[in-house]
Amino acid sequence: MTIFDLTPQDLVENLRRRLKKSLGQNFLLDENITRLIAREADNLNPHHILEIGPGAGALTLALCKLNRPITVLEKDDHCARFIQNTFAPEIPDFDVIHGDALDAELPAFLSDPLARPILVSNLPYNVASQIYFRFIDADYPLVGMVLMFQREVAQRYLARPGAKHYSILSVVGQYYHDIEHVTDVSPECFRPAPKVTSTVLKFVPRKRELSHEEELQFRKLVHAAFALRRKTLVNSLSGFAGLDKTAWTQKLSSIGLDENTRAESLGFKDFIRILRTI
Ligand code: SAM
Repeated sequence: MTIFDLTPQDLVENLRRRLKKSLGQNFLLDENITRLIAREADNLNPHHILEIGPGAGALTLALCKLNRPITVLEKDDHCARFIQNTFAPEIPDFDVIHGDALDAELPAFLSDPLARPILVSNLPYNVASQIYFRFIDADYPLVGMVLMFQREVAQRYLARPGAKHYSILSVVGQYYHDIEHVTDVSPECFRPAPKVTSTVLKFVPRKRELSHEEELQFRKLVHAAFALRRKTLVNSLSGFAGLDKTAWTQKLSSIGLDENTRAESLGFKDFIRILRTI
């Protein structure tokens, strides 16, 4: 018997008594979903895979079938030990890092474009976007990411200007990535079943039009613009970049935006145009 004879149920059974809600431990049971995630990752033609939060290893098992080097990063002691003991002896090129995805030292292959690194994860929901932003800030040459979020957060990444869920995550996420909806995942696909539906998204890096310095300014601008969501852009931006309301009214009008414009109606390209006026 090899590890590939095991099912997600077999893997999860080993950790059933050690589940930690505080670490968002809802383990996948549905092989259709783990296979789909692995296939979407494979379509990006990666070489070295990083999986965050392997848990009991259901998704890890599907990723191992791609026959590529895999590194997993897990915070929980029991899960890290279980994955080390179960996968490492059987899978060549398999490494386990025991640490927190928010601050652990990340492996060197992520910085190597020749490693064609990819990030794949059924993310712990309480820190999901923080982990996404850690990878954006580190500016790794990833070929992409396939990530599972709770559906409400995924909707924000996908929302277009004017839509209900349109927010800072939408503008900034869509600047860095083309973001595709892969599938929704119902609570019954997990053990224990979470209270919410989940969504898998695929992130493909976009060609970026701003320098690193400009990107930092762009993000500050977007945060300022959305800080007072109900207000007009002129009001929200008043004081930003040392400009008062009158100055902002002029700047916005110089690029064809009237004084009633609100942040929620603008796409990331509009924010780049606004940035260019200062
Ligand atoms: N990949 C497994 C699956 O799909 O069945 C488990 C996914 S579960 C939603 C999230 C996993 O992330 C858990 O194994 C949890 O212990 C781990 N985790 C939680 N917070 C973490 C963090 N800050 N850094 C690394 N792993 C974390």
